[in-house]
Amino acid sequence: MPANNGDSAAGPVTPGAGSFIPPEAGFRVVSCLLTFHSQSLIGMATSLYIHIPFCTRKCNYCSFNSYSGLETLRERYVDALCIEMARLQVGSDLVPLKTVFLGGGTPTLLSTAQLTKLFGALLSRFQLADGAELSIEGNPGTLDIEKLQCLKELGVNRLSFGVQSFNDRELENIGRIHSAKEAQFAVEMAGRAGFSNISLDLMYALPGQTPASWWNSLETAVSLGGNHLSLYQLTVEEKTPLERILARGTRILPDEEQLAEMDKITEELTGQAGLKQYEISNYARRGSQCRHNIVYWENGEYFGVGAGAVSFLENRRCRNENDPVLYCELIGNGKTVTVESETLTWEESFRETVIMGLRMHCGVSIEVLEKRYGIDLEQYYGENLTRMINEGLLVLEDHVLHLTTRGGVFANQVMSELV
Ligand code: SF4
Repeated sequence: MPANNGDSAAGPVTPGAGSFIPPEAGFRVVSCLLTFHSQSLIGMATSLYIHIPFCTRKCNYCSFNSYSGLETLRERYVDALCIEMARLQVGSDLVPLKTVFLGGGTPTLLSTAQLTKLFGALLSRFQLADGAELSIEGNPGTLDIEKLQCLKELGVNRLSFGVQSFNDRELENIGRIHSAKEAQFAVEMAGRAGFSNISLDLMYALPGQTPASWWNSLETAVSLGGNHLSLYQLTVEEKTPLERILARGTRILPDEEQLAEMDKITEELTGQAGLKQYEISNYARRGSQCRHNIVYWENGEYFGVGAGAVSFLENRRCRNENDPVLYCELIGNGKTVTVESETLTWEESFRETVIMGLRMHCGVSIEVLEKRYGIDLEQYYGENLTRMINEGLLVLEDHVLHLTTRGGVFANQVMSELV
């Protein structure tokens, strides 16, 4: 089903299975590790990402590390995840987790027995901090009341639904497995199962979408009463079926003018609903921001387990084997699943923290950066920073650097100059 993001649709959302290496983060592979990275970790990270790479069917825009047709692997894969978690070093230095995120793929494709096993392994390896956020990505086509109740009993307290659109034609155009009605029903059922912390993912700039249909989708999403929205602009990834469909000209994407209108609609409807933008693609009611994703945007540390999952610990970013079959084999043979790693220099880490932080509405604090890195942001970027401030892309106010509205439009360009 990102930022890591699986059913989070189009954008870099959740660091996870190859799906959350933010393009702006400048992740590069510089070496292959031959040892278990996870056995030498210092356990100061308080966030864990678990990747579930299974999907009923591949959506035609999707380039996430997810696979259809691997039904028979699911049980073995869950066992492998349990083993990988068990291998993570546990000691007095392992602090309780504040956030856990099950992303994919489609985590809600796992059976209740598999989910129960997975949470059992999680809780036998980690403690959870009081009030820890436990999120799961759900595809509306894969949830029933029994599974929702099971998730509730397991302690899951945040559901992130990959809805993408409430227009059946648009859902069909991007190859989703559910209808608008089914999505609506799933969200209402989650409410009945006792979930109050619900996020919906929607996508705009879809083939065949118009400002009017975007208005309808967004209005429906808001009317369902969730407290969080992730709104992503479709990115047409290379070598996806969607790229080929668009090349044939049978489907057309909205033009610039329509996109500008959709942006206005977003501003209007989220504003009316009291959903405040706190990140480039994310809106929440007060106190309902996704704490797990904020760890990524603050360039904090996190564990990642599962096929293609990324960990970031002590300035080192490691990625697991992408292929779930190979991942299971490696685990079964007692071998490392880490296939790529990169240790960031102090300055690289500083720059990543700046660009990731700029994604957030609250911006980046010069004092916090100075404390963390001993680097003065203004001195470091010098004339480059002054120029972008003069061009109205960035603003420095009360020792905090923000993107301006114009800077938000050219965010990728600004970030590429700062990385
Ligand atoms: S549900 Fe669709 S978008 Fe989400 S990971 Fe699966 S194939 Fe990709």
